[in-house]
Parts: sequence; structure tokens; C-alpha cells
Amino acid sequence: MVRRRPFDIDGYGKLVRERQCFVCGLVSGDSAFAHHVVYEDEFAIAFLNKYPPLAGYVLVCPKARRTEVTGEFSLGEYVQLQTVVYAVAEAVRAVLQPERICIMSLGSQAGNAHVHWHVAPLPPGVPPEQQQFAAVDAERAGVLTFDDGEAEALALQISQAIDRGLT
Ligand SMILES: [Zn+2]
Repeated sequence: MVRRRPFDIDGYGKLVRERQCFVCGLVSGDSAFAHHVVYEDEFAIAFLNKYPPLAGYVLVCPKARRTEVTGEFSLGEYVQLQTVVYAVAEAVRAVLQPERICIMSLGSQAGNAHVHWHVAPLPPGVPPEQQQFAAVDAERAGVLTFDDGEAEALALQISQAIDRGLT
């Protein structure tokens, strides 16, 4: 069963400042940074957000550490990464039938600097005042927790839908 809990923004901020980069940790295979990966190729990796304010919330990153949203990418590389963002969003749309998908690149040079894109599906029926920033702000919305196996099953569904979209 999916439940919602408050998000410890201060604890998370401290963790982010003190630990190694979570994307580089995941790419290196460090189990402390394991995530439910939904897509991976030589250039990019996509995985379920560990602190999701919405179900099916996926992050898409270049595997190499880049900290500029556009500045460190050639146009071709940027388009390659956005092709993955598109495939993820289409897969999430197929699996979860959201009312709307929000796509953002946030991050901070003082925190999660490794650039990443958020693919955040808004389920149907959320009141307008709880959509947009309110829906994706973990501090306001809280984060979802899943029973064992639920996140894994969701990741598998999204992964399979991505594979179908790319073939
Ligand atoms: Zn990194």
C-alpha cells in the first residue's frame, strides 16, 4: 500500500551536502546509492526518485558528472538525453495514465549538482491548487513510501514500457 509521509527537508539537505553525489554513486555501483533503475545506456541512466511526492516519479541523468543544464552538452548530447526524457515520459504515461506530466531540471551547485531531469506524473483528480509546484514540492506534499516490491514492480513496468517505445 502506498502511504504519504512528511519529508525531512533539513535532514535531507544535510545528507546531500555531506554525502558523495548520488548519481555518481549509483553509476559506480555503490549499493548505498542503489535505486530502481528503469533505463540505462552508455550515456544516460533513469531511475525512480527515492523521495517521490508522486508515484512513478523518475529522474533522468547523464552518467558522466555534468553540472550545467545545457552548458556542458553539445546540442547532439542534449538531444540524446532529451530523447531518454521523452521515452521515460511516454512510458510513465502508458503505465500510470497521469492527467499531466511535469518535466523539470532543478538541482543546485550547493547540493545535488549532477544535472538531472525530473519526470513527474500528476495523477487525475488532484485539485488545481495542489497541482504544479505544490504537487512536486516534497516539503509541501510529503513523499510516498511503498511496500516491499511495489517500487520494484513499478520500475519494471516503466522499464518494459520504455523498451517497447524504443523498439
Ligand atoms: Zn555525480
